[in-house]
Amino acid sequence: MAKIIGITGGIASGKSTVTEFLRQNGFEVVDADAVVHQLQKPGGRLYQIIVEHFGDKVLLESGELNRPLLASLIFSNPKEQEWSERTQGEIIREELAALRNQLDQTEALFFMDIPLLFEQNYASWFNETWLVYVNRDVQLDRLMKRDQISKEAAESRLNSQWPLERKMVLAGHSLDNNGNQKQLITQVVHLLEEMRL
Ligand code: ADP
Repeated sequence: MAKIIGITGGIASGKSTVTEFLRQNGFEVVDADAVVHQLQKPGGRLYQIIVEHFGDKVLLESGELNRPLLASLIFSNPKEQEWSERTQGEIIREELAALRNQLDQTEALFFMDIPLLFEQNYASWFNETWLVYVNRDVQLDRLMKRDQISKEAAESRLNSQWPLERKMVLAGHSLDNNGNQKQLITQVVHLLEEMRL
């Protein structure tokens, strides 16, 4: 049985920065967001149920989902968010379980980056959970810059998520990303070293 580590955080808290480093160092990392994007492509398992629920207005002319529109429909309305988490959540869980079982056969240690790890009760899958956290003002700033969105839009995305303090009490290890990226990676290296002991 492989050792499996779950990585989580909030939007723009620095999860991808950590997982990019892990991949560069040869580790397998399952990216739950990438799995979701794949499932939401035309023909994917999530695509059909989203179009049935929201109607054609969420489609671009190309037939792909209009992702920014979809995100705003879901994150601006708690009922839609609840629907999305429940309905899509079940399918996503099945797909992630299949990937986990596959890697369990070949790897001694691997990672899964799951933004909703605690919200969707994935914690029991993991030997360890790592939370990448930042203060809210830093998170807001990085989100606005990365996604080129207004302060209002960034605040509304943050308000739709659990505050990171709520996740901090649940996580096995917390990585502080208020400093620079080098400081974040140093913490990752320490945790990897601890595991080799
Ligand atoms: P997540 O994957 O959690 O959404 P990212 O890793 O994409 O977050 O980080 C969000 C944004 O902040 C990205 O543009 C990233 O380059 C930047 N970023 C991440 N960590 C730092 C840091 N320590 N200092 C400055 N910018 C950072």
